[in-house]
Amino acid sequence: MLYKSTRGEEKYYDSAFVIKKGISSDGGLFVPTEKFKIDLDKIESLANLDYKGRAKFVLSYFLTDFSEDEISDCVEYAYESKKWDGENTVPLVKLGDNKYILELWHGPTSAFKDVALQILPVFMINSLKKCNDDKDVVILTATSGDTGKAALEGFKNIEGTHVIVFFPEKGVSTVQKLQMVTQEGSNVSSIAVGGNFDDTQNGVKAIFSDKDLSEKLSKSGYEFSSANSINWGRLVPQIVYYFSAYADLIKTGEIKAGDKINFVVPTGNFGNILAGYYAYSIGLPVNKFICASNDNNVLTEFINTGTYNRNREFFKTSSPSMDILISSNLERLLYHLNGNDFGKINDWMHLLKDKGEYSVDDMTLKAINEIFYGEYSVESDVNNQIKTTFDKHNYIMDTHTAVGMDVYDKYVEKTDDNTISVVLSTASPFKFCNTVLKALVGSDAIKDKSELEMLEILSDKFKLVIPKGLQNLDEKEVLHNTVCDKNKEAMQECIEKIIFS
Ligand SMILES: *Cc1c(COP(=O)(O)O)cnc(C)c1O
Repeated sequence: MLYKSTRGEEKYYDSAFVIKKGISSDGGLFVPTEKFKIDLDKIESLANLDYKGRAKFVLSYFLTDFSEDEISDCVEYAYESKKWDGENTVPLVKLGDNKYILELWHGPTSAFKDVALQILPVFMINSLKKCNDDKDVVILTATSGDTGKAALEGFKNIEGTHVIVFFPEKGVSTVQKLQMVTQEGSNVSSIAVGGNFDDTQNGVKAIFSDKDLSEKLSKSGYEFSSANSINWGRLVPQIVYYFSAYADLIKTGEIKAGDKINFVVPTGNFGNILAGYYAYSIGLPVNKFICASNDNNVLTEFINTGTYNRNREFFKTSSPSMDILISSNLERLLYHLNGNDFGKINDWMHLLKDKGEYSVDDMTLKAINEIFYGEYSVESDVNNQIKTTFDKHNYIMDTHTAVGMDVYDKYVEKTDDNTISVVLSTASPFKFCNTVLKALVGSDAIKDKSELEMLEILSDKFKLVIPKGLQNLDEKEVLHNTVCDKNKEAMQECIEKIIFS
């Protein structure tokens, strides 16, 4: 399989190069260029494999420059049962007739980012080797919470890599902050920035595009890379669980191979749902991908009107990992739907950058609507959904998953579609205890309680076990206490101090 940029550069690369590089030098994203379909009988046979077997099968189609042994080693390392609460890496839970939840958060940091960030580091070291690149990679990440911790945990003690995470000092939850400042590992740093997420992200972006700095690093044997979902190495592991959910439904006799199902995906950067689209494009039988947004409903509007407009109010919601106005991975979808017409992609992406808005043509919108449905939930919908799902099914879900579940209800109401549907659950309810408890027991019951006390309350009241990574967070030693100003120079100074000392 060869990859090329969405913005026109006529060069083809293998997967090792695109994983190492992260983003194309013309500003585009790398996409697979060869079309193929996996036969139904092969998909059916996945029912007899465990998650690791399914992962090896799917990845082998995309990482053709990796040997079978290399893929196998990466998978065995990333999805080791110790890290995932057992052999069932991503359990599929039946909630009601036609309604399933795919729990993607049993990994070390309790968010679905682990599925990709446990394997990206081993993809990365293999890729560096294949490219004969002996530099050390410095992974720089600006985070609003989940990605930072998952990147720290994934890359810790991986030889040849360093990871530096910047987070807004007051922009993450207590639990998220404790998760990051207590991170162990010889090659990891987390740094608080005295600003908000945008300041943090802008600082990191400016550092990435500083040519002098990258030259200086290169001379000393280092290069920057990214653990963001613009990196193909983060998307490709996510294709696997769409097949895995389908295989589980075959295994339990709920569907026959060939039956189409729906997937409901709580969406931010359009990475997760795009991985589903790739699964569909190589043969997974799908009826609709239901794209669920929160108050930041730029994607809902886009899917329904064809106009992407980020000139709108930004809302801070209870599902912060979906508080995004620029969904980067949409670029890849538009490229594929337009017969690889990079001219159009360039036009639209430049309009987005310069004017904050673009509109696709009718043909593109029609192609989108054939397979995607878009809807959103406001904050009160999310709270109600957490409560009603608990009352109805005795199931507790986090705020992001609740957006998905609520949008699914709205979809069924509107379309009467009773196709079997899988809602992707992207975080453990313990990661967003505050909102979850408010919805379940009311604000009075948790008045004056700290976030850590709320973990205990959720556990005691509802007989749930606190995930290992979130237990005793306040007893762990704080290993990272650097606070840095919210400007590029200060952040760069922190990086140089870490790398050159
Ligand atoms: C990152 C994240 C999302 C959004 O996923 P995208 O791939 O950015 O669309 C949803 N929920 C949670 C909990 C996340 O961490």
